[in-house]
Amino acid sequence: MSESLTIPSHLLPTDGRFGAGPSKVRQGQLDALIAAGSTVLGTSHRQAPVKNLVKSVQEGLLELFQAPEGYQVVLGVGGSTAFWDTAAFGLVENKAQHLSFGEFGSKFAKATHNAPFLADSSIITSEPGTRPAPEAEAGVDLYAWPQNETSTGVAAPVQRVAGADEGSLIVVDATSAAGGLHVDVAESDVYYFAPQKNFASDGGLWLALFSPAALERAERIAATDRWVPDFLNLKTAIDNSAKNQTYNTPSLSTLVTLDDQITWLNSQGGLAWASARTADSASRVYDWAAASEVATPYVVNPDERSNVIATIDFDASVDASAISTALRANGVVDTEPYRKLGRNQLRIATFVSIEPDDVTALTRCIDYVLENL
Ligand SMILES: *Cc1c(COP(=O)(O)O)cnc(C)c1O
Repeated sequence: MSESLTIPSHLLPTDGRFGAGPSKVRQGQLDALIAAGSTVLGTSHRQAPVKNLVKSVQEGLLELFQAPEGYQVVLGVGGSTAFWDTAAFGLVENKAQHLSFGEFGSKFAKATHNAPFLADSSIITSEPGTRPAPEAEAGVDLYAWPQNETSTGVAAPVQRVAGADEGSLIVVDATSAAGGLHVDVAESDVYYFAPQKNFASDGGLWLALFSPAALERAERIAATDRWVPDFLNLKTAIDNSAKNQTYNTPSLSTLVTLDDQITWLNSQGGLAWASARTADSASRVYDWAAASEVATPYVVNPDERSNVIATIDFDASVDASAISTALRANGVVDTEPYRKLGRNQLRIATFVSIEPDDVTALTRCIDYVLENL
């Protein structure tokens, strides 16, 4: 039985967490959490200690992304999913265009498409495992796509849409990309994410780098008579963020572990260091798959392959779910593919906290399971 297969301990990674989110938490973050246990934790989010922590997160992100003059870090409670509704209410003027090439891009597309006060969205799709490109379209005032489609392991460039209407905004879901993939945020107006992936913190918060144009758009829509639920009010989030606060109570431990990760990334060499490290880790998976007789990268076009989520298909002679089950029984967890994709596949996160050598160890463990199943 695969479940009783014991992988020799010298083959195992030092840390067995390869999930797409929540993902591996570094020990340093836990140390920071313990240290905060007698200071910040359990104190008011309206007082200086927590507000200073929020400020440190905001300033650390501006540094990490080398944000252009005038960009601001806005945050709120509810994770990226809450941000989709917040953006539908407070950021789309009349019509959005979405790239939909997996689960996450499709969900934001649905949010704006179904909003009764907006025109139907234009939704450009492509087969899972590939990506489409945005197309300049008159009347579209917001273009949206994920930089990394976590459900399939496809990455997309962050760049302005040539020929788009003057004043249209580029809004990028960087939930699984931010902090792990290179980006020039000047090519976007809103670069948003939640902290449970490369930032190795917990879920439940959204953060976004807003350009001056996006801030101005939010102000303008807030001044109209469009009804907006208080919890999803973008202007309220912007105003609170300017005071280093959130509208309602955030998880303080999430902020502590997020702040520690941002500090760590900046001290290691920032985004250039982080993106080189994830490129190294991902190449170890793709190169292993290319050399394997039974495995092959699911994303056919190497240009479209993600450096933070590697999806690997297996041929019919192998049951991928038996591999992930055997790995799990040995403490190597969360390599299962995205449920709804329904493929004979492993999905391996190579987020920045994961040691590249642990990725190599994982490929050796897979080989061991393949030989001994
Ligand atoms: C994980 C993920 C989300 C969902 O984030 P939540 O914080 O759970 O709402 C959205 N988009 C992408 C690209 C993701 O990877």
